[in-house]
Amino acid sequence: MEIHDSVVIGGGQAGLSSSYHLAKRGISHVLLDSNASPGGAWQHRWDALTMSDVHRVSDLPDDPIPDAADTERANAFVPAYFADYERAHELPVIRPVQVRSVSDVDGVLRIETDQGTWLSRTLINATGTWTRPFIPYYPGAETFAGEQLHTVDYPGPEHFRGKRVVVVGGGASAVQFLGALRPLTDTLWVTRREPVWRNDEFTAEIGREVVARVEERVRQGLPPRSVVSVTGLTLRPQEREAERLGAYERRPMFSRIEPDGVRWPDGTFEPADVILWATGFRPAIEHLGPLHLRSPRGGIQLDGTTAVADPRVQMVGYGPSASTIGANRAGRTAARGVATWLASEAVGEL
Ligand code: FAD
Repeated sequence: MEIHDSVVIGGGQAGLSSSYHLAKRGISHVLLDSNASPGGAWQHRWDALTMSDVHRVSDLPDDPIPDAADTERANAFVPAYFADYERAHELPVIRPVQVRSVSDVDGVLRIETDQGTWLSRTLINATGTWTRPFIPYYPGAETFAGEQLHTVDYPGPEHFRGKRVVVVGGGASAVQFLGALRPLTDTLWVTRREPVWRNDEFTAEIGREVVARVEERVRQGLPPRSVVSVTGLTLRPQEREAERLGAYERRPMFSRIEPDGVRWPDGTFEPADVILWATGFRPAIEHLGPLHLRSPRGGIQLDGTTAVADPRVQMVGYGPSASTIGANRAGRTAARGVATWLASEAVGEL
């Protein structure tokens, strides 16, 4: 069976950028993506999410993202850009292929999928987080008589009209949901920590500081925090009406879920028809389990994008590179890491 120089897993921003830079270096590889069509996680974002709602989708290397009308749906516009990009750069994408596990067999990486096995000298993991929604457990969750949804299931605001919605989570998604829902229906916002609002302009310098903080965590092998979670929150013009209606008066987390609502430790009760969990995601890396990359501190320790526990493996879109701009840059770093490993292997063989 052919042994590839590299295999990229995942066809979102991080995977496409990596594949582009591998190709530019002449490194033979394939990109395996579990989605049936181009677009990474973007193709699954809710219909109501327009290009004016997303903050900024970074360009892929050497091909700027076209200008989008504010009303353009993000789940169509970004996938169309990715599809054109894959075609124009003739990236070796194979889909749909679900990678189930990656293991080491006699010094070669063995990639088991639902479509067969691939062998490779190196690996770039670019599987994002979208396929691993996270919902924290609260006692009584299973007794709730209403509806519980996660960000991945968000059906758009109309679905909630006339229902009392508890929105859980202190990130940008919760802020957006409240902005859309409050003008239509009654909402209650609960977060674990006091939300951090940012009133100043989000400058490149602040962006670099934020990324540096997340980078430091993964350098120490700690589980990464979401880049977005440490940038602070802002309200956009489309959220001002919700603000005026009181949507952003936040309550601390409840401690129990009951059939008709949620209860706090002091006994306070609030009725709810829906709990919308905007509680984020975890990295989709279960398939890497057999490689034992996790540090005792719970995360994958990285030097740049290189896994310290196994330098054949590059992690992109993980930790500090979990944004479109970060993922894009990480693709270049990862291709360099792959080239360095292959060169050291070649020297070792002499
Ligand atoms: P993804 O786009 O998730 O791609 C991963 C790919 O890997 C997918 O195609 C998936 O199917 C595939 N995959 C996963 N597991 C496997 C497997 N086992 N085998 C094979 N394939 C697999 N960031 C910004 O910079 N600007 C924004 O405006 C912005 N807005 C956002 C809005 C929302 C609502 C959300 C949720 C996020 C937003 N982000 C934004 C974050 C940004 O979208 C992500 O950081 C970025 O798109 C992630 O790209 P990625 O390539 O790492 O992952």
